Amino acid sequence: MRVTSVTFAGSATSPAQYPKRVLPEVAFAGRSNVGKSSLINRLLGRRKIAWVSRTPGRTQVLNFYLVNDRFYFVDLPGYGYAAVPSRVRETWGPMIEGYLKGRPTLRGVVLLLDGRHPPQAHDVATRAWLAQERIGHLLVLTKIDKVPRGKRAAHLREAAACLGLSDPGLLLPVSAVTGEGEAALWKALEVALAPA
Ligand code: GDP
Repeated sequence: MRVTSVTFAGSATSPAQYPKRVLPEVAFAGRSNVGKSSLINRLLGRRKIAWVSRTPGRTQVLNFYLVNDRFYFVDLPGYGYAAVPSRVRETWGPMIEGYLKGRPTLRGVVLLLDGRHPPQAHDVATRAWLAQERIGHLLVLTKIDKVPRGKRAAHLREAAACLGLSDPGLLLPVSAVTGEGEAALWKALEVALAPA
């Protein structure tokens, strides 16, 4: 994908504030510090777009970015380090749950998992919830540059097992630092964003 234009299309806390244009969109989710801003910036070829527009102190905000005047990237608030929530509602709150369940133009969610460690209970619960709600999602392992090449296959198998996946090939390893996996991720995103 050649990114020719990116514009910040606003922050939202309620559906009335979502962009009105009917364009396909994908949302990026993951634990705080998972590398979400870095990856979005990398994909968009912009150094700072995914956080310059953030409003300090307002974590529960959806940020919309219009890309190539054709689709939106949506940056969801990172979920916390706290103990496992008993329900996803407690992780993300009704605002985000409402967005994910009720946005007709949402083509899928990119769920980011920290590639350096096995997925945590929060991550596992989030992915189970997305599956249960039949919300299409890509599972991306971030910061893969931090995992020595010789250990990656075993690492992917372990992560897949934690998530209850039979095939580690469903996990897409990426690095916002080296760009590894970026082309494969774009390919998957293009499929998700293709005209219906
Ligand atoms: P966010 O809170 O999910 O938006 O995470 P950030 O993008 O702010 O990244 C959190 C930290 O991880 C920062 O110190 C980044 O420099 C670092 N980081 C993000 N992506 C990568 C990556 O692919 N490789 C490495 N080595 N570090 C990364």
